[in-house]
Order: sequence, then C-alpha cells, then structure tokens
Amino acid sequence: MGRESVKRSIAQTLEDARRVPLNGGYSFESLSATIIDRLQAGVFESLVPVVNATGILLHTNLGRAPLAPAALAAIERIGASYSNVEYDLERGERGSRYGRAVSLLASLTGAESALVVNNCAAAVLLVLDTFARGRDVIVARSQLIEIGGGFRLPDVLERTGARLVEAGATNKIYLEDYERALSAHTALLMRAHPSNYAITGFTAEPHPKELVELGRRTGIPVIEDLGSGALCDLAQYGLARERTVQEAVADGIDLVTFSGDKLMGGPQAGIVVGSAALIARLRANPLLRALRVDKLTLAALTETLRIWAAPARHKELPLYAMLSASLDELRERAGAFVKAVEGAEIIETTSYAGGGSLPQSALPSLGVAVRPPGGATAAATRLRKNDRPVIARIEDGRLILDLRTIAPSEDTVAIAALKAL
Ligand SMILES: *Cc1c(COP(=O)(O)O)cnc(C)c1O
Repeated sequence: MGRESVKRSIAQTLEDARRVPLNGGYSFESLSATIIDRLQAGVFESLVPVVNATGILLHTNLGRAPLAPAALAAIERIGASYSNVEYDLERGERGSRYGRAVSLLASLTGAESALVVNNCAAAVLLVLDTFARGRDVIVARSQLIEIGGGFRLPDVLERTGARLVEAGATNKIYLEDYERALSAHTALLMRAHPSNYAITGFTAEPHPKELVELGRRTGIPVIEDLGSGALCDLAQYGLARERTVQEAVADGIDLVTFSGDKLMGGPQAGIVVGSAALIARLRANPLLRALRVDKLTLAALTETLRIWAAPARHKELPLYAMLSASLDELRERAGAFVKAVEGAEIIETTSYAGGGSLPQSALPSLGVAVRPPGGATAAATRLRKNDRPVIARIEDGRLILDLRTIAPSEDTVAIAALKAL
C-alpha cells in the first residue's frame, strides 16, 4: 500500500489516541486494527468495479452502461501507444479528431453530419450557446426537464444567456401555442425528452413533423434533446416503444442530442446529429475545445458504433445482452444461488432501464431473496463492503439480488458474498 500511506495511517491513529485518552490505555491490538481499517477504507475510496444487483440497467451512480469487449480492446490498444487521433495518415498533417465517429454516426442515423462532445449536457449547452445566446428558445411547459445531477433545462438556458419562452399548458401543447410564442427574437424551437417522468391522461402535443414544418416556414431551427438516444426499436426487448434517433432525424429535426452511455451502451459522450450547416457552426464555437472528448472515449465510441452498424453483433453490448436474457436463463442462474445459499428463494422482480430513460418501462425479471439473521440493512452494508462490492435492493425486510443486471461471470462472486452473510 506504500510506505507513506501506512505511515500516515499510523500517525493519524496515534494522534487520535492521544487526543482522546482511554481509561486503562489502548491495546496494541486495537490500535493495529484501527490502522488496518483506515488503510482498507482508503482502498474503498478508489474507483472499483461493483456487482449491480439493483435491477436498474443504466444506473447513473454505478456508471451506466458497461462497455462491449471490442470497445474495451480499443481503449487498451489506443491508450497504450500514440495514435492518429488528430492526424491525417494520408496527407501526413493534422487531421480531424471526429472524422471516423462522424461518418459512422451519419450512416447509422441518416443524418448529414454529427459531432461528439463530453456528455449530453455539454451537447445541449453547446447547441444553445451557439444559436441562442441573447435570444429566445421556445419550449413546451411539459418538457422543462430536470435530469439528475443538477441538469435543469431552464437553468442551462439561462446560463447560456438564452431566454426561455414557455409555451402551452402543463399537460397540453398545440402547434398554435408554439406559433403564438414566436417573435423576432426566436432563435430555436426546442423539444426535450421527459426522461424521468411521464404526463399521462388528458394530454396533447403536435407531431414533431408539424413542429419541423413550422420551423421551415419561419426559418427557425428545431432541436430535440433525446437524452437516452435509442438506436433501435426497444419493443423487441420487451420494453416500451421509444422514439429513436433515426426517427427524430427522419422527422427533419435540425439537431438531435443524446448520450453515449445510455441506450447506446457506449462510453460517456454527448452526441449531436443533424444538418451539416448547423453542425459546422457548432464546430466553429470556441466552447467546443473545452467540451471535446479524449482519444479513449473516441476509441470506445467508434467500436460501439461499429457494433450498432451490424445488427447481428448487438448482443456484444452488455446492456443488450442483459435486456435479452430470458426468464428461463435467469431462473437457471437463480437456481445455483438457491442451491448454494441456505434460506434463499427465487422471486419475481421487475428491472428498469433507468439512467433517465423510459421511466415507465418495466421488464419482468427474477431475483434471489434472503432474510439475513441480522436484518436486511446490516446485510446490505456488509455486501457493499465485500472485496467486490455487491449493491442489492431491500424490500419488505428482505435483501434482493436482481439477476438481470448481474453478469453471469459475476454469479460466483455474488453467491460467495451471500453465503458469507
Ligand atoms: C440524461 C439526459 C441528459 C444528460 O445526459 P448526460 O450524458 O448525462 O450529460 C440530457 N437530456 C436528457 C433528456 C437526458 O435524458
């Protein structure tokens, strides 16, 4: 663990002991135990892999999408040596950082052009800063979203110096509402995906194509923040149908923004696809330099996009392998848990896409439930302190491990952790 960190742990422990004297003094054993605890706590402060037994597939706190083997291999390959990240091998001079990812994104989504930045929040920021500084952006009241982690559309708008013009009522917006909100100051018409809530019941909104028509008629670009960025019809995985990036592009939306590490199942990135002329203006914004992605992200993203380009390869993406696991497969794996762990039983559970996508879309799943002697809360804490931490769920005093988000290769670790309880 390194001489210096061991010394620091000893010094701190002794200092604490001197500050708070103990009747009869501290024993050598208790002091050593404290020193070792301190050092081990230090280990937990580093970034470690965990077993996600929550059943939430895109858990933002647990790092969203795990990467495909091909993406990981690319990170290793590109990270280990120099690369042509910004170098044109043909001409022997500086080249474009984004070229490879852009052509893949364009052919996948049907868009004219594309751009990649640090995350979707950065993509929205760049779009608003480029087109709407000091001008108006019209957004439906029902779409003034707040995503976790402090991303609030009204605040981002304000930050870029754009003025938010709310249109419609909370539950209903008509094309006329957008039309009435237009003025000489309007820079953009904006749609945003209500990623983590749903308004149901007496609702209405115009078809995106109608909004695009209004935009074309008035010369105002229409942008859409899709967030989760589905690239295929999720109904085939038993989830609710979700508007795809391809559909938004086909509807004629001028710029579409989405995340790389949500339903795309790639690395953290923010992607903008759409009109070549508007993307060119994004590229000319000096802010892009501050939001640019590094070579490792580009390496992983490019490989992820290659997988998307070949439908037969989709299950190489861990997210889609988990989504397509059948209940029979999950039951068989759960069987191994129940056999090894006394008192464990198989229960029906529900997995969720999570990560600010598809709030209402639940996926039937199977879990293993135990009622640990010392109570579920204490047991959950112990699982989190496992060498390979296991993050479980507590329901009705039971500890539940959802099989869908546990990789089959992690079963042994999870079983051992449960047995130790
Ligand atoms: C998740 C989400 C974002 C933020 O994306 P990050 O990649 O986490 O920055 C922005 N908009 C919508 C609609 C989202 O769902």
